Amino acid sequence: MASARLLVRGPGDGRGRNIVPFQRVSVCGIHVTGVPFDELVRSAELLINALNLRRNYMDISHQSFPTGLAYYLDHHEAPPRPTFKQSSVDYGGAVLKFDSAKADQYIKLSTCSSEELCNAIPLREHESRSEHHMHMTGTIMTIKAGTHRESCDSQEDLDRFLKASDAWTCYVPPDSKYLYRWERGVVQIYRNEEDMIARHPLNYRNVTFVKYVEDLSRLSDMIADGPLKSFCYRRLSYLSSKFKMHVLLNELHELALQKAVPHRDFYNIKKVDTHIHAASSMNQKHLLRFIKRTLRSCADEVVAVHRGIPKTLRSVFEEMNLDAYDLNVDLLDVHADRNTFHRFDKFNAKYNPVGESRLREVFLKTDNYMNGTYFARIIKASKIITSHFLINGQREVIADLEENKYTYVEPRISIYCKSMSEWSKLASWALRNDVHSSHVRWLVQVPRLYDIYRINNLLNNFQEFLNNLFDPLFQVSVNPQSNIELHKFLTHVIGFDSVDDESKPENPILSENMRSPDEWNDEENPPYAYYLYYMYANMVTLNQLRKERGLNTFVLRPHCGEAGPPSHLSAAFLLAENISHGLILRKVPALQYAYYLAQIYIAMSPLSNNSLFLRYHRNPLPEYFERGLKVTLSTDDPLQFHYTKEPLMEEYSVATQAWKLSTCDMCELARHSVIMSGFPDEMKQHWLGPNYKREGPEGNDITRTNIPDLRLAYRHETLLDELDNLFKGVT
Ligand SMILES: [Zn+2]
Repeated sequence: MASARLLVRGPGDGRGRNIVPFQRVSVCGIHVTGVPFDELVRSAELLINALNLRRNYMDISHQSFPTGLAYYLDHHEAPPRPTFKQSSVDYGGAVLKFDSAKADQYIKLSTCSSEELCNAIPLREHESRSEHHMHMTGTIMTIKAGTHRESCDSQEDLDRFLKASDAWTCYVPPDSKYLYRWERGVVQIYRNEEDMIARHPLNYRNVTFVKYVEDLSRLSDMIADGPLKSFCYRRLSYLSSKFKMHVLLNELHELALQKAVPHRDFYNIKKVDTHIHAASSMNQKHLLRFIKRTLRSCADEVVAVHRGIPKTLRSVFEEMNLDAYDLNVDLLDVHADRNTFHRFDKFNAKYNPVGESRLREVFLKTDNYMNGTYFARIIKASKIITSHFLINGQREVIADLEENKYTYVEPRISIYCKSMSEWSKLASWALRNDVHSSHVRWLVQVPRLYDIYRINNLLNNFQEFLNNLFDPLFQVSVNPQSNIELHKFLTHVIGFDSVDDESKPENPILSENMRSPDEWNDEENPPYAYYLYYMYANMVTLNQLRKERGLNTFVLRPHCGEAGPPSHLSAAFLLAENISHGLILRKVPALQYAYYLAQIYIAMSPLSNNSLFLRYHRNPLPEYFERGLKVTLSTDDPLQFHYTKEPLMEEYSVATQAWKLSTCDMCELARHSVIMSGFPDEMKQHWLGPNYKREGPEGNDITRTNIPDLRLAYRHETLLDELDNLFKGVT
C-alpha cells in the first residue's frame, strides 16, 4: 500500500487545470484524507447530505449558494473550467497577453526565486507612458501609466452610478390585490377572495416546521457522529498546515505582486463593516461631544413627557445633577470593561449613557417624543453618512469624504415587534431625516424579547409578535401605495438579523409537535431555532412575493454562535445566508468543516468578543481564516469597544498586529466583507471587478482588490481538492 506523499510543485506546473503560477503543495497516494476508506465514505455521505439540505433552503429563499458546490452536488465532479481566449504569448501554460517590458517583468515576478524577488524592482519604475493591457486568467487588467487615479473607485464614477438611482425614488408596482392569511405561524398568499375561501394559496415553495425539525435533528446526529468528528478535525488541521506551507512558499511572491499594482493598497480597497448596531455606531467621545453640543444649543427643546409634564433637555440633565461642563467619557460610562465579561446583562446596561435609560431614550432611539430627531442627527454626524447637514443654522461638514471613501457600513436598526406601527414609524423616521447614504445599507434586527412583552401583557401570544414583524411587510409588498414611505425605506433594507444573549438558558430540543405560534401564549421565551424558523419561513414567502413583483428581496443574517449551544449554528446552517460571530464553531469540527465547504460568510468581531465572551488571544478568527472559512472583520458596537474615529480600521489594525496578518490577508478579509455585504451588484462589480462572482482567480481583479490571483487560486484549488475527496468517496 502506497503511503501519502507530500509534493511541492514549482511555479507554472499547473497539473492541467491550474493556470496561475505559484508554489503548490499537495498530497497524493492512497488514503490521502488520513482516515480508513469506509470512514471516508460514511463521512462524505453525511456531509453531502448536509450540503444538499442547505442548498434547498437557500434556493427557495432566494439566498446565495456557491455555484461550484451546486455543480458538485448535481454532477459529483468538479465544474468545468471557463475557457480562455488564447493569446499571443504562452508563459508555461499561463494564458497571458503582454505587450510591454512591464508585463515581462510581471511574469518574471510570478515565477522567479526568492532571492531574485528580494532584489526585484517595483514595476512603476519601469512604467512607460503608454497604456498596457494584461489579460490574465480571464480578467482584464488595464493600467494607464500615470493616470491610475481615474480608476473605478473615483467618487465621480460612484456618483454617476448612484445618481442613476436617486436616494428614495424607486419603482412602485401597482396593487396586486393579493390577499394573505396566517396558517400556523406562516403566511399564505392568495390571488383573490375565491382562492382564499377554497384554500388555494399561490404555489410558493416553503419548508414546513415538521420538515425543518427533521432536518435539524439529522444535523445534530451528524455533528455528534464520532468518526465524522475525527474526519473533519483531521481535514481542518490539514487545511491549517497547508495554508502555513502556502505562506512559507509564496509570501514573497504575493507581496511582490501587490507591490507591482500601481495605486492600489490596503487603504484604498473597499471594506464593509458587515456587523454594526446603529445605536452604538459612534464612539464614546463622539457621543459625548454630541450630547454636550445639543445641551448647549437645544437646552429648551421639549424632549420627553413624564407623567403628563413636558421635560426640556435642560430639565432632564438638571434632574440628574449634570451640566454640559461636568460630563466626561468616564461619567458617560458606555464602554465595555472587565465587568462585562460573561455578563451580557451588564453589557446591555452600557447602552444607557450615564447609566440613565432616559438619555438612551432621548439620544439613541428612533421612536421617542421627538421622533428620533437627535438619533438621526448623530447617525448622520457619525462617520457613516457622508453629507452636509444643518444644526441650528450652522452648516456642519461632518463627513470627511477622503476618509470615508473606502469604508461602507451595514447598521442594524431595531424592530421590537411590540406593536404593528413600528415599521411605519421607522420608515417615516428614515425618510423625514433622510438618513440615506451611498455608504449605508440597513439591516433590521429583531431582539428575541417575546417573554418580556408577554410578562408586561403587551402581547398575548407569539403569533402577535410575528404579526407585528411581518404584516406591514406583506401589506406593503402587495400594495406599495398603502405605505409609500415603508415601500421606499425597504429598498435600502437588505435583510433581517436576530439578536439577544445566546447564552440565556433555553430548551434546546425542538420537537415536531411543538406548539404553533398562536398556541404559544405563556411567558416562556421560544428557543433560538424556533424564532429563526418563523423569521425564515415568512421571509421565504415574502421574498417570492417580492421577486414576482420586481422588488428587492431580503436575506437572513442572524447573530449566531457567539455563545450558547451548537444547535444555534445548525439552525443557521440551514436557514441563514451568513452569520455574525460563529465563535462556537471552534468547538464543533463537523459543523466548522461544513461551514467551510458551503463557504458561509461569518462576520467576526474579536474586540467585541474580547469584552464579552472570549479573550482576544483565544479568538478562532486566525484559525478559521487559515482554513479558508469566509471570515470578515466587523466592529459590532464602536460605542462600547472602540476608541478611534475609524473603528473598522482599528479592528483591522489590532487583528493585524496581534495575529501577524500579511497585507494579502488583510485584503482578502476586506474582499470577503464586500462579497458578504448586501450592497448592489453594480457597486460590487465596481469595487471587485466585473467577474467577482466567478469562483477562484477568474473572479479576481488585482487592480481593484489588491489580492494576487495566486492567493485566490490557492483557496479555490484547496476547496476543490476537499470536495474531490468527498465526491470520489461516494461515487
Ligand atoms: Zn452585534
